[in-house]
Amino acid sequence: MRLVFRATLFLLLGLLAFSLMVPPIAAAPPAGTPTTYTVQAGDTLYSVAVRYHTTVAVLKHLNALKSDLLQVGQQLIVPSSDPSEPAPPATTLPSAPAPSGHSYIVQRGDTLSRIALRYGTTARALADLNDIHNLNLIEVGDALAIPNSSTLVTPGLVLDPPAAHQGGTVMIKVTQPDLVSVSAKVNGETIPFTHTAGYFYGLVGFSRCAKVGSVPLTVTETDATGKTTSASAKITVAATAFPVQSVTIPPGKEALLDPALVKKESDELNAIVGQYTPVRLWSGPFRMPVSGGIVSSYFGTRRSYNGGPVGACGHEGMDIALDGGIPIYADARGRVVFAGLTQVRGNMVVLDHGLGVFSAFFHQSEMDVKVGQMLEAGDLIGKVGTTGLSTGTHLHWSIWVNGVYVDPVEWTKTLVP
Ligand SMILES: [Zn+2]
Repeated sequence: MRLVFRATLFLLLGLLAFSLMVPPIAAAPPAGTPTTYTVQAGDTLYSVAVRYHTTVAVLKHLNALKSDLLQVGQQLIVPSSDPSEPAPPATTLPSAPAPSGHSYIVQRGDTLSRIALRYGTTARALADLNDIHNLNLIEVGDALAIPNSSTLVTPGLVLDPPAAHQGGTVMIKVTQPDLVSVSAKVNGETIPFTHTAGYFYGLVGFSRCAKVGSVPLTVTETDATGKTTSASAKITVAATAFPVQSVTIPPGKEALLDPALVKKESDELNAIVGQYTPVRLWSGPFRMPVSGGIVSSYFGTRRSYNGGPVGACGHEGMDIALDGGIPIYADARGRVVFAGLTQVRGNMVVLDHGLGVFSAFFHQSEMDVKVGQMLEAGDLIGKVGTTGLSTGTHLHWSIWVNGVYVDPVEWTKTLVP
């Protein structure tokens, strides 16, 4: 454990050097950004979520909660500083039927996604509100509560989830009928869109050290006559309560990592994961690439070195401590775009899953795939090792969306329909 931890530390030390340009989170968040709430007797996650016009899922994310249980006196990060603030006015799609009493009876042929689109909301919001754990299991005759349409930014534009957070992924859905193409810019960066049953969508990854606040979103739509329209909105980015670790670096060890070398390797890797394959190669949620093991460092973990300030930009993936030689399996269907030895990350395999989504597996003892090979979810990639800047056997698992590291654990839950 200690060895693995130390290995990760050296990896991160170098990366930290390049993250210092990112301003740390402001001490006093502006109005409307996360604040804290002290849990009172009788509170549940659901009651707190309702009070702050959010969902249980968002609260769990913000607070990195593993269970639904709250304790009186517990401090929760909540998305709004003012619980008395009214919920945003409901907006509905022009073609959406008026919700009757905010409930809907499931009809033959319905899917959660189809119902969500009809009400200008998301399958996830419906599932959260109705406590549905398996998105595929709804039955004809079920009564579903329909959330108010606060997730709908403007008619025909849906953010899923409705707010972003550091290290998270947001899907932008454009549900206007009769469009031939859609593109978007988030904070000036172009987000490619793809088409699926009846709508266009694009994926946006938010950095683990993204600035907290709101970022501008512009969506440009072109219809069959060639007419182009633009819509603007804001995406709210909340802070994620990443774990913080205090680390003591043994004297002299800092020299093991040459910043120029680390930068060169990062640049090369960024060029690979910055590509875009306009086809979705995977389906369903991503799976854990190994079974068993102990998480020795979560995504985004922020570190203070030798008592110094806590870095604003933490761990670029998730470390799972395991014995050497344990098999590593593909987390989702994808094409091998890199398989080779690197100085920092050791034996590394990178998979392209399409739509700007990539995943990678560092420090392998052995690689069993070749560049160009197409892998199905669960296919063998290689074996756990301790190559590169690692002194203990572990798997480091990273996922990128459009070149930005995001939390791999979120991708083990269904995101793209
Ligand atoms: Zn790591």
